[in-house]
Amino acid sequence: MFESKNHNSQKFSYKDSLNLLKTDFSMRANSVKREPEIQKFWAENKIDMKLGLSNKGKNFTLHDGPPYANGPLHMGHALNKVLKDFINKYKILNGYRVNFVPGWDCHGLPIELKVLQKLRNEERRNLDVLGLRKKATEYAKKQISSQMEGFKRWAIWGDWDNPYLTLKKSYESAQIEVFGKMFLKGYIFRGLKPVHWSPSSRTALAEAELEYPDEHSSKSVYVSFRITSFTECIASKLEKNNFYTDFRENIGNYFILIWTTTPWTLPANEAVAVNPKVNYVVVSDNNENIFIFAKDLLEIVQEKLNKKFDLLFDIKGSELEGIEYNHPTKDKSCPVVLGGDYITTESGTGIVHTAPGHGIDDFNTGLKYKLPITCIVDEKGNLTNDAGIFKDLNVLKDASDQIIQFLEDQKILMLMEVYKHRYPYDWRTKKPTIFRATEQWFASVDGFRSAALESIEKVDWMPNSGKKRIKSMVIGRGDWCISRQRSWGVPIPVFYKKNSNEILINQATLNHIQDLFEKHGADIWWSWDEQKLLPPEYLNDSKNWKKGLDTMDVWFDSGSSWAAVCSQREGMQYPADLYLEGSDQHRGWFQSSLLTSVAVNNKAPYKTVLTHGFALDENGRKMSKSLGNVVDPNIVINGGANQKINPAYGVDVLRLWVSSVDYSVDVPIGSNILKQLSDVYRKVRNTSRYLLGNLHDYDPSHQSISIQELPILDKWMLHRLAEVIDQITSAYEKYEFSKFFQILQSFCVVDLSNFYLDIAKDRLYVSSPNQFRRRSCQFVLSKIIENLAVLISPVLCHMAEDIWQNLPYKVQEKSVFQRGWPSIPSDWKNLDIASKMFSLRKLRVEINKVIEGCRNQQQIGAALETEIMFLPYENELKESLIWLKRSGNTEVDCYSDWLIVSDFSLIENPSEESLLTVDSDFGTIQIKKAKGIKCDRCWHFQEFTLKGKENTNLCKRCWEIIK
Ligand SMILES: [Zn+2]
Repeated sequence: MFESKNHNSQKFSYKDSLNLLKTDFSMRANSVKREPEIQKFWAENKIDMKLGLSNKGKNFTLHDGPPYANGPLHMGHALNKVLKDFINKYKILNGYRVNFVPGWDCHGLPIELKVLQKLRNEERRNLDVLGLRKKATEYAKKQISSQMEGFKRWAIWGDWDNPYLTLKKSYESAQIEVFGKMFLKGYIFRGLKPVHWSPSSRTALAEAELEYPDEHSSKSVYVSFRITSFTECIASKLEKNNFYTDFRENIGNYFILIWTTTPWTLPANEAVAVNPKVNYVVVSDNNENIFIFAKDLLEIVQEKLNKKFDLLFDIKGSELEGIEYNHPTKDKSCPVVLGGDYITTESGTGIVHTAPGHGIDDFNTGLKYKLPITCIVDEKGNLTNDAGIFKDLNVLKDASDQIIQFLEDQKILMLMEVYKHRYPYDWRTKKPTIFRATEQWFASVDGFRSAALESIEKVDWMPNSGKKRIKSMVIGRGDWCISRQRSWGVPIPVFYKKNSNEILINQATLNHIQDLFEKHGADIWWSWDEQKLLPPEYLNDSKNWKKGLDTMDVWFDSGSSWAAVCSQREGMQYPADLYLEGSDQHRGWFQSSLLTSVAVNNKAPYKTVLTHGFALDENGRKMSKSLGNVVDPNIVINGGANQKINPAYGVDVLRLWVSSVDYSVDVPIGSNILKQLSDVYRKVRNTSRYLLGNLHDYDPSHQSISIQELPILDKWMLHRLAEVIDQITSAYEKYEFSKFFQILQSFCVVDLSNFYLDIAKDRLYVSSPNQFRRRSCQFVLSKIIENLAVLISPVLCHMAEDIWQNLPYKVQEKSVFQRGWPSIPSDWKNLDIASKMFSLRKLRVEINKVIEGCRNQQQIGAALETEIMFLPYENELKESLIWLKRSGNTEVDCYSDWLIVSDFSLIENPSEESLLTVDSDFGTIQIKKAKGIKCDRCWHFQEFTLKGKENTNLCKRCWEIIK
């Protein structure tokens, strides 16, 4: 640029006669101050989601997945919400009617526990359900307000005055409606399921309420279950080894060997499970007893049981299915079944005693084989009638010892040993817990599985691998247990008949409760009695009924949001156009929303599902406090305690980061990446500043310039701008924001900074203000800056608005967001010029390299001190150069001006008098010292100069301007 210090200091300076940059758009973003100012401007002028709602175009609904209302915001939140905001802003600019209603997931155990942990013991004891719910509500709302402040600072547009919260009355009411419709369709049922149960506090416990003390040990037992029938395959193998398999003969003893750490569950045994992928052995001891167990454990079992086994043959786990054995404590026969990967050969025998009422894996295997879900323990931990002769023993006291003694008497106990392992205890009573099947509420996924799979096919999954993921999860999904024995949630709206198993739930009770919740909220379930909770027709009968105290799984809460939000809010539609969350939500929200929506309306709640990865540190590690690699979005924006280490980058740099990453996989962030991004940010900002600064005396309403009369260079620039608009539009359409980032960067650096604007300096600064070569350039600059502002506005929203507010001339729109997405005038695209320019630009890069080489050897100073001679190898390039000379504008389209040298000529033969001759890919390039004298104003070398002030030299055109 033309800085005064570069002029010869002894001579008079023409600086004041140049048209220099003038703009209030600052070089530095000063984002900590400037971004909130811009946000205030938006708020005052309703430049936010209100714009989206006032649009008249087609509807576009991006439905927000609710973050949990707990804890400070992290980079994962930033990635998620900023991506959504890119899309919403882009759609608003394209005229879509858009409403974005942010949401929060408010119920559930983590908040319940947070509230309880803050209380002293006595307070906790005196807290009733309503007291707890009140505190949980307060806690959630406080968290929401703090997260909301963060989201707003990130310039996320949405209905912040009326977000959706799963604890709101209208939401709870809509959720009851979803539950009710599923119930009335027959998809909700009661069944048994094992849960963590604390006999000492007589309640079900959640995972978070368990603790695992170091010193727990159990009495573990090796037990041999007597086989009663073999499959034919095994029988024939045994016969080959001369063992009888006809059980009527009653010769020989055949056993399947199991190991368990909970002997008290043996009366509840319904099967033994093997891993189909594990290898097993059939062995005999010296008494001709046959045993089956895992091959890997052969040595250990021999040692433990103090036996010497003869190996008869190996057998695959999958071949053991169908064997039957005698129940260890009851007079019945049970099957060997195939379990899953939970069966290992790390300890025991590789064969798992299966009691579906008392273990989760056992339960799932039980479901697969339709085994009875036998529960042999009451809520105090006492064995029931179902335990047969062991009735009334207590599982935490004497049950195991008595049962072990019984096995010993039956001669099937092989070994008892004390075994130390991880075992869950009740966090309150510090006593061991058990698994116990209790009555729970389920959604029968079987009832609508095929409909769910069909609807998955109709959804557009981005990336496509998401479809396979959710499909396999829905195929493998068991029934969905939706009840929880907790207080902080939406109640399951059911009444139980006192002293009976009868339940009451029908259209009338559901409608009544739905209406009550809409008016009063779900708290009344606990504060009102049955008389008021039941519809009027049950008035006389109400004392016979007792309301249920279970609440719903929080996934049912958030999974109902399509009904509570998309179907109800202004400007939104169901199914939504887009759900956009982390890729873990195939297991979570995408799935729970799909299941409820398909169950009720037989369709998916979304048309497209887009997923993103997770934020990692720069080395690809998970962020954690202990590693000290956590990047806090608040520090990225406002800077840290030491601003040298953690400078304040502002929201736009954070948003630029989101645009820069390939979010389809996990994405890295850290101080180096942020520094690089802030460089890119500065590049875009400085390019914009240059454009604005050169428009200070330009007013498009006073200029009538037609595309036809533009110089070739300007026509090309508009063509290139049109290409960039197309490419960026396509990137946004496909949600490929990293392409936007790359295109933006290369446009600013390669097309503008290094080429068009580089050449434009002479036109803009040196020309007289009204000269056509300057005005036509300004015409192009104004097109670039206005379009660039809109193109970057979904991502760099503050910078875009800042540009708009600093446009030096009047435009119709108060805000950049009112401009609408760029449309390309038909006369901008010019493929003929573009193809010729392609080779001319490549040649320019090549020649610039040669000049740069010459400068590095200090043979010349500025490029303007040289002239270039060029002998092209190819005719096409030669023709392009001739075409430029013939049809170009003489004041703009001189190739020497494009090279920023003093002269350029095509030659037939290499010249003898060059400083440097280089044979490039395009032809022979020769550099010569420019002839003539340097103009003290424009620095071009001219053979004829005139005298200016104080004996300065001026070229003819500068002399004309100064005159
Ligand atoms: Zn000059």
